[in-house]
Amino acid sequence: MAPMAGLRRTALRVAAAAVVVGVALSPASARLACRNTGSFERWLVEFRKEAAANGVSARTIDVALGGMTLDSGIIARDRRQSFFSQSFLEFSDKLVRNRPDSGRRKIAQRKAIFEAAERRYGVPASVITAFWALESDFGTGMGNLPVLRSLAALAYDCRRGDMFRGELLAALKIIDRGDLRPEEMIGSWAGELGQTQFLPSHYLAHAVDFDGDGRRDLMRSDADIIASTAAFIVSLGWTRGEPWLEEVRVPDVLPWDQADLAIQHPRAQWAKWGVAYAGTRPIPPDRMPASLVLPMGRHGPAFLAYPNFQVYLKWNQSLNYALTAAYLATRIEGAPAMNRGKPGLTGLSYEQLKELQRALTRLGLYDGEVDGKLGAGTRASVKRAQIKLGLPADSFPTHDLLERLRGDGKPSSPRTRPATQLR
Ligand code: CA
Repeated sequence: MAPMAGLRRTALRVAAAAVVVGVALSPASARLACRNTGSFERWLVEFRKEAAANGVSARTIDVALGGMTLDSGIIARDRRQSFFSQSFLEFSDKLVRNRPDSGRRKIAQRKAIFEAAERRYGVPASVITAFWALESDFGTGMGNLPVLRSLAALAYDCRRGDMFRGELLAALKIIDRGDLRPEEMIGSWAGELGQTQFLPSHYLAHAVDFDGDGRRDLMRSDADIIASTAAFIVSLGWTRGEPWLEEVRVPDVLPWDQADLAIQHPRAQWAKWGVAYAGTRPIPPDRMPASLVLPMGRHGPAFLAYPNFQVYLKWNQSLNYALTAAYLATRIEGAPAMNRGKPGLTGLSYEQLKELQRALTRLGLYDGEVDGKLGAGTRASVKRAQIKLGLPADSFPTHDLLERLRGDGKPSSPRTRPATQLR
């Protein structure tokens, strides 16, 4: 099953018709609490009219939606919140495993296709292959649910109905176009299709018939999968010939607040500050813009992320996923395993992250969800807290930082001001 189902690249939209119970729910809680009031059958009748009005053939509507019933398990799955948090190392260890080897094998098997796709799109084989491995292990883990039924349930549900009505419509157009038959559309619960797990709208817009058989087949054709994934990556802003991510070592002293995905410096500047590759090769002293990314802070793994790295964040907004996919591509290209940093380095647990978010909220440094996730907003507010406390501002919440923010007025070391002075 696709490891990333449901976490994907599309921004969540609040369903306009959400019926909210209770008071003062945050937007995310409101989405989870929205209640479906009308029947699925009545909804389906309306949706069929909408599809016809959007030019989908009567035959496709009948074949794809005739006899469709609600799979409420899909809705439950979509609303299930995760109650754990993983550090970058835990996450990437689980996902990378033997995939550098299987990726290289796949590239060797399909060498001519990868070369043709790279000539046309400028996306290296390793980059395509890393996504392909993570999303489905080359088709062995695409999920086994009927995608149309999953999409219908998600389109009916008030939480993300607006977005998924569009996805269901796109799926019908894929059938109309002759690319796939309804019974071929087997996939994950989140409605994604094919070996690199495209949302139907992305399939419709970016799939390419690269083997020339007249169908865009992302379920079975390696040529179509390779070229379509490359075409999608290009649509996300890939620049031919540029790097995406390189592992680096950081010195003991650095302006840590500059280590931020939102901040870029020429590669030459990072070199001047003492950032270096692991081996003897020097960092090219050029103008290539790069961000220093420290997913586990200054004592953990370190990477220079180039403009092409933005593609990964558009593919999946989770930094852990984006870094893992980009890192896996470098491993497929032969980069050695990353330096894991200080032994025993761990992140905060889900409960500790929630506690941290509540403390940051109390101190006026955070206005996002208390969701136990280390997202971009939480990292940014951790950085604000570190700056106020005079700590190295590497945006990574340590156990020590949580201790200092607990607000009990008892600093964890004599040099620390109580958190109450943060305001
Ligand atoms: Ca084809």
